[in-house]
Amino acid sequence: MSSCHSVGRSKETARIIIIGSGPSGIAAATRLLEQGFKNVTIFEAEDRIGGRIKTIPFADSVIDLGAQWCHGEEGNVVYQRVKDLDLVSKTESQLNTTRFLRSNKEMILQETANALTTIVDSSVPEGPNAYDGSFGDHLNHKYWLEVEKLPNVDRTIATEMLDNFKKGLCAFEGSDNLYEVSGHGHLEYETCDGNQEIHWRDNGFKTFLKLLINAKEDLSDDLGVLKGRVNLNKRILEINWEGSDELRLRCWNGEILTADHVICTVSLGVLKEQHASMFVPALPEPKLRAVKGLKLGTVNKFFLEI
Ligand SMILES: Cc1cc2nc3c(=O)[nH]c(=O)nc-3n(C[C@H](O)[C@H](O)[C@H](O)COP(=O)(O)OP(=O)(O)OC[C@H]3O[C@@H](n4cnc5c(N)ncnc54)[C@H](O)[C@@H]3O)c2cc1C
Repeated sequence: MSSCHSVGRSKETARIIIIGSGPSGIAAATRLLEQGFKNVTIFEAEDRIGGRIKTIPFADSVIDLGAQWCHGEEGNVVYQRVKDLDLVSKTESQLNTTRFLRSNKEMILQETANALTTIVDSSVPEGPNAYDGSFGDHLNHKYWLEVEKLPNVDRTIATEMLDNFKKGLCAFEGSDNLYEVSGHGHLEYETCDGNQEIHWRDNGFKTFLKLLINAKEDLSDDLGVLKGRVNLNKRILEINWEGSDELRLRCWNGEILTADHVICTVSLGVLKEQHASMFVPALPEPKLRAVKGLKLGTVNKFFLEI
């Protein structure tokens, strides 16, 4: 989200403040610097850069607490940037090697598991026939219509498998349940063609941030081209662009910063909680509708060392 206020300043003099040092803020800053803008500064609420990209050491490797995969190849700016650099690998499909175990330790027959997996795959709403209800309703309806055609499949197992599939789909959707996901909305979401689980080998997603800023060392020691431009532990509470020819930003400690342009990259969660106090004047109605209409679910990750 960006707000451009005063005009008439040059690339040398325009004061640009970026709020947030996640991938969006970092990408915006590096692109502006590449384009010759000189006065670019980032303000970050946390004590580190990266936002929801956070790679930490774990056992003899690393884990990503936030973003982990590069999803898709065609039209994916992340993949396009790294594809020739030998930094990523593609995960092979695990469909044929996945086994399904019931809580009573009974292994589900592979033939049954494959048949039910295929049904779920074909029940996900797609194509020109938009579905008015929720993704969950659509999936239930389609799944049971198809399962009816498989008289040999135990209905209890089919129910358990559907429950399991739904949990997997919720993780992809970032939703707490599939009845929160609209069939229409699901169709509007565009995925990039190609492998959906491209990984960063033993280096984690922070590799991408290091590449963007041209850092040679770890991000905590080396901010690359952003050196001297990042202010950590500086939460911006208010962006005021009313009645003055410059923007005024109020920090958590009351300090006032001034700028000609602000690029605000705070997350949807922050916007939901703070938009009313954060923007003066208030955000326009279409943006408010989007902030209120989009929902957030919980995605948990469990890391096991074996
Ligand atoms: C658990 C999890 C798993 C994910 N997995 C993937 C994945 O596998 N692949 C993928 O592509 N994406 C994944 N994502 C999504 C991805 O992490 C986000 O899309 C991406 O980080 C968004 O970047 P951003 O810069 O827009 O926002 P963020 O990364 O959220 O960065 C926003 C920054 O703004 C700062 N900020 C907020 N409020 C203020 C304020 N008032 N003042 C100053 N600074 C502020 C925050 O501290 C943060 O550093 C995942 C996300 C999560 C949470």
